[in-house]
Amino acid sequence: MIKNFFKSVFYAIFPKNFTCDICGEETFDGNNLCEKCKPTVKFNNGVTCPVCGRKNVISEICMECKALAPQFDKAYSPLIYGDGSSALIGKFKKGSGYLKDYFCDLMIQGVKSFPEFDFITYIPVTKKTKYKRGYNQARLLARELSKRLNVKVIDDVLIKLHDTEEQKGLSKRKRLENLKGCFRVHKRKECKGKRILLVDDILTTGATADEACKLLRGAKAKKIYFITVASVEYKPEREIIL
Ligand SMILES: [Zn+2]
Ligand SMILES: [Zn+2]
Repeated sequence: MIKNFFKSVFYAIFPKNFTCDICGEETFDGNNLCEKCKPTVKFNNGVTCPVCGRKNVISEICMECKALAPQFDKAYSPLIYGDGSSALIGKFKKGSGYLKDYFCDLMIQGVKSFPEFDFITYIPVTKKTKYKRGYNQARLLARELSKRLNVKVIDDVLIKLHDTEEQKGLSKRKRLENLKGCFRVHKRKECKGKRILLVDDILTTGATADEACKLLRGAKAKKIYFITVASVEYKPEREIIL
């Protein structure tokens, strides 16, 4: 943790990176990724599902969104989750909070493609996780986007009451079951009739987003746009596990 602290101070003083954000090798050219790691970060700039924003084979609503419509109105992620992006997000969660700048450079164009919104908020973590990590990574992204867009962030619109079991490998329905009751709307009045930009780091099955958005809808939010750094690719050959 102390090492990470000094690293953040170093990067605050010398914002230009000298080492690769993935492997730590020196880059010399001021680039944040070395030549070897750069190709492992895949951009989600091809054909996507117009609802969940995940990479798709055709520019149509993906089968997963058709089978179980998401609770958000529209989502976008600049990166495809895997290899390079998962390494970067892993580091971002574990002390490398400075990566928010790089991620927001990538997210900003997508955010601008959304219709207007009234405020920004984020998927919360439990107090325990925040204490362990020192911050909520989604809040860092939300605050950085807010600075760049000049749209306010409202903190603690949602709160997370307890941690959930490891969600990896579970179906969306099972994930939704696990998530039941873990979030609560803390600021209902702020949501009524409002268009909200909700921020998180990854979109996988969309279960977390769904549970959070369902609660925001319950608090009468008018529109919800969801933005993450990365999302998993939609694969039609993959069995839809609902
Ligand atoms: Zn590298
Ligand atoms: Zn979709």
